Amino acid sequence: MEPHTEARLAPPLDSLPLPRPPHAQPEPPAGHTTSTADRGSFCLAVCTCGWNGPARRSRDLARRDAARHTQP
Ligand SMILES: [Zn+2]
Repeated sequence: MEPHTEARLAPPLDSLPLPRPPHAQPEPPAGHTTSTADRGSFCLAVCTCGWNGPARRSRDLARRDAARHTQP
């Protein structure tokens, strides 16, 4: 029989150094690169910055959304 009496004390969480990444949020590439994505029978514009346009029935409209997004 092994004695299981050895209790290990967990250190308090405050004393643990948290590994902190240099950049918490991944930076999107400079500028906005848009493309269109199909979702079912709809098409929507997406951008590398995370933006995406409303679902459109036609890819042309989605492209127009993307153009409007990239133009200030
Ligand atoms: Zn964008």
